[in-house]
Amino acid sequence: MPISDGFARRLEPVLPAVAEHFGTPFHIYDLQGLHETATGFKAAFAGMDVREYFAVKGQPNPAMLRRVREYGFGFDCSSPAELWAATEAGASGEDICFTSNNTSYDELAEALRLGAIITADDETVVDKLIAMGARPRSLALRVHPGTAGAVGESYLGDAESAKFGVRMDRLAVVAAKAATLQPESFGLHMMLGSGFLNPEPFLLSLDLLLAQPLDVDFLNLGGGIGIPYRPHETAFDLPALARAIRERLDAAGRSPRILFECGRYILTPHGVLVTRVLNRMSKWRELVGVDSGMNALIRPAMYPHAYHHITVHGGDDRPTETVDVVGSLCENNDKFAIQRTLPRTQEGDLLLVHDTGAHALSMSFTYNGRLRPQELVLHPDGTVERIRRAETIADYFATLDCEADTLVAASPAIAAR
Ligand SMILES: *Cc1c(COP(=O)(O)O)cnc(C)c1O
Repeated sequence: MPISDGFARRLEPVLPAVAEHFGTPFHIYDLQGLHETATGFKAAFAGMDVREYFAVKGQPNPAMLRRVREYGFGFDCSSPAELWAATEAGASGEDICFTSNNTSYDELAEALRLGAIITADDETVVDKLIAMGARPRSLALRVHPGTAGAVGESYLGDAESAKFGVRMDRLAVVAAKAATLQPESFGLHMMLGSGFLNPEPFLLSLDLLLAQPLDVDFLNLGGGIGIPYRPHETAFDLPALARAIRERLDAAGRSPRILFECGRYILTPHGVLVTRVLNRMSKWRELVGVDSGMNALIRPAMYPHAYHHITVHGGDDRPTETVDVVGSLCENNDKFAIQRTLPRTQEGDLLLVHDTGAHALSMSFTYNGRLRPQELVLHPDGTVERIRRAETIADYFATLDCEADTLVAASPAIAAR
């Protein structure tokens, strides 16, 4: 989706100066946009017992998490590093929801130490908690609905290949085990997929969870509210979801607290990757080579249908052409766009790759020695602040600086000689 008119108005006039001052490439995040989405989220659920736990995996920079926290949101974490980022942003206890999978004792111990809500993704997590003598204050079981939860294209895939959640036909047994932990508050969790643009999957989750014959204090409907990446798509109708949830709870005469773990919806539209044209190349196709690549935004290369809108700074009135926009990695799928119609570009032009506020830098990597770009924020008053510097070659090789350590582990056969 093209960035909002407001973001464009705030960014475009200052962009050349920002690129000159900080250098390219960079992700830049619009705090005014965050403000509008976050207050919109709260307004949609006003008067309801609903809390959003921002999914740290989408944007783990504590400088951004602190901003997200200003709206009363908690954090959804699934690793020790994400727990660290959440605490850096000032969160503790039940401001944190630990929704991990394939979890270790150490990770559970850390989440328990922080007093986080523990979402057990599997029976083995409950077993581990029992073995640890743990007393989580707040505990949820993540439920996989099997074929009952099939909704369009979902990253959870079909039930048979599912990696997440407790099978519904096993839920009663696991819930009985969980009850022996005597949590003060108990809930269920279900997340059917990601990137949904209509409320149906969330209402299906709610129906399936309400149908379980268990006493719950809260229901976690997960993340997965989508954003319109493509220009013709329509935005998710959050007030409609809120109304439908309220109706269903009223009809059921139930009042569990509702939790969400949205990342994408909150931040994605409020970031862009700014990258400069390095080369214009004519091969079988016309190629626009830029100074960033799939290592800074992997979604177009990773997901078959992913689309990120691209605009050319100052290019609105130029004639158009159809090009591939490519980075510098030695991978042919290192492309931000394939056969995209864009204003005609030349070396030095600034390109904006839209919708990188979440699930962009957090998914970055350093293959080919291509280093991660810096992160900037655009404040409502027009100032631009660096919140993460670009990686350096020294960072790339920093872990070579390790304590000398050699283990002489001879096998018995060698020892016998
Ligand atoms: C990925 C994920 C989220 C966040 O998904 P978004 O698409 O960013 O809303 C939330 N909860 C869990 C368990 C996840 O795996």
